[in-house]
Amino acid sequence: MKNIVLFGPPGAGKGTQSEFLVAEYGFVHLSTGDIFRQNISQNSELGILAKTFIDKGKLVPDSITIDMLKSELLKYSDSVGFLFDGFPRTEDQAEALDVFLAKEELEITAMIALEVSNDELKYRLLERGKVSGRSDDANPEIIDNRLKIYFEETDIVKRHYEKQGKYIALSGMGSVNEISTVLKTKIDRL
Ligand code: ADP
Repeated sequence: MKNIVLFGPPGAGKGTQSEFLVAEYGFVHLSTGDIFRQNISQNSELGILAKTFIDKGKLVPDSITIDMLKSELLKYSDSVGFLFDGFPRTEDQAEALDVFLAKEELEITAMIALEVSNDELKYRLLERGKVSGRSDDANPEIIDNRLKIYFEETDIVKRHYEKQGKYIALSGMGSVNEISTVLKTKIDRL
């Protein structure tokens, strides 16, 4: 069983590559952004709360995010492997995930990071904003805030996995298919 953290800034292509990886390996895809958006569309208590942070380009507080992720993961006891997308985004989330997975006799196999230049990220997010209906993609100031928070708070999470010898970086520039091919080669070697 392989459990992968797909990592990278907003707009790096995590969602796109997740679709490929789910089709290829049958992973259970746990995207905290998707789960928040689902809650927002259902107007759940969690969704209403999360929206106040997401609309400003801020991170949702750790306690809320971690509890949500745990209860989601427990729904899939027969998974062939988990693909984490957008989680962990802080050191505390990474530590909580290790502890929680260990209780389930699971562990992260690798963190795979998609590296993309800042200009390309902004371009992709603004383009996505034209069609996705995501309010956090439509506004350049909110995009800048998300990228700032990523480089201030989230980027360091890679050190958590580097220390464990589980960090793999690859270029997220190029065509979707090219990146999928490289990703598959890396995962097959794990
Ligand atoms: P992107 O990677 O394009 O920023 P996501 O769909 O992963 O988009 O996340 C959208 C928003 O949801 C984030 O900007 C943040 O507000 C919130 N969010 C998602 N995952 C987390 C997380 N692990 N911790 C805190 N907030 C999160």
